[in-house]
Amino acid sequence: MVSGESFSRIEGELACEEVPLKHIAERYGTPCYVYSAAAITQRFQRYKEALAGLSHRICYSVKANSNLSILKLLAAEGAGFDIVSGGELYRVMAAGGDPASVVFSGVGKTEDEIRFALERSIHSFNCESVPELETISRLASMMGKQASVALRINPDVNAVTHPYISTGLREHKFGIDIKSAPGVYDVASRLPGLRVEGVSCHIGSQIVDIGPLLEAADRAIELVRNLRSSGIDIRYLDLGGGLGVAYRSGEHSADPSSLVTSIKRKLDGLDLTLMLEPGRSIVAEAGVLLVRVLLVKTNGAKKFVIVDGALNDLIRPALYQAYHEIEPVAIQREAEEAVDVVGPVCETGDFFARGREMQPVQAGDLLAIRTAGAYGFVLSSNYNSRPRPPELLVSGKTVSVARARETYADLIRGEGSCA
Ligand SMILES: *Cc1c(COP(=O)(O)O)cnc(C)c1O
Repeated sequence: MVSGESFSRIEGELACEEVPLKHIAERYGTPCYVYSAAAITQRFQRYKEALAGLSHRICYSVKANSNLSILKLLAAEGAGFDIVSGGELYRVMAAGGDPASVVFSGVGKTEDEIRFALERSIHSFNCESVPELETISRLASMMGKQASVALRINPDVNAVTHPYISTGLREHKFGIDIKSAPGVYDVASRLPGLRVEGVSCHIGSQIVDIGPLLEAADRAIELVRNLRSSGIDIRYLDLGGGLGVAYRSGEHSADPSSLVTSIKRKLDGLDLTLMLEPGRSIVAEAGVLLVRVLLVKTNGAKKFVIVDGALNDLIRPALYQAYHEIEPVAIQREAEEAVDVVGPVCETGDFFARGREMQPVQAGDLLAIRTAGAYGFVLSSNYNSRPRPPELLVSGKTVSVARARETYADLIRGEGSCA
């Protein structure tokens, strides 16, 4: 099973925790996102347990899934938050998260966003350039604040992942080249309004082989030692997120505890607070996109299963050539034929699977598109004027509406009245 025990079959039918997905589809309609609360907290706790005994802060990467209910769940577990926009800070606060636990990442922060974050006294900024440092310095000084900053260094290691989600090479736009980092730290340490006390990096996403992450850690730690010896008092080491999950059955997710165990050893005697920014590895496996088959059609030799979900709901297959397991919600039988599972949107890229071996399905059947909890709903749009699907959070026997299905009225909100 791809996602452990949170999605399992009860009398043959796929359920989320104790709620059959069929009941959710009947009550809330399709397409819809369904998340397991237990799966999310369990995954967060894995990090927590692995980090026990070490000074640390786990900052959940909000962009992976920014639903308020999920942020609330994680805040209650003691999570901090990694944000990449003012909007994400607003969400964290709306969910009752503590701004003092927030790190602000991103290669292009606006002055409004920086001011907002300074006003709320977030924990720190992960900075990626000298102009950004100068802007934060100027705004913090004007506001009579001291901003804690880390520099996001680009360690020039290659995370083996899809090119669109690899970020740790010099050719990428992210971070400060590790070779020029000491000079930039020197500049930063002279700027007013800044406390330069962190080294951060994030080399990519969906990393299954932790080797490159450990190599990045080594380079970052070497930099910490150098900076300390030149009088810059580094207290935080932020190694970003990026641990990968199993999208195909038979694959294994990267294990946070083996990563953390290796890093702990490297940090021995260094008196650093370790920060991590996991996103996908907390929420991906905790969610499915539930869709219903509209019809089955054949074009020559090809068979298409046309479902009511589409690329506007889940764009990962089109954007990253991502693979998602697709399971019939009713009893699973032997796969018999290769089909394309596609949505109704007018784009050839609107597919969930191509040439996928599946059991025969027919109009009205429910399909669960697995491992859709991360970079799923957050990347959804209203393309083709399709209202976005609801997000439902399951805990045991209880289903709560974490976000309501959008209506046609929602589609035209802000476009003026046509009266
Ligand atoms: C996206 C992102 C993360 C989270 O990455 P995952 O692969 O989802 O764990 C963490 N830190 C930064 C700076 C990011 O941009």
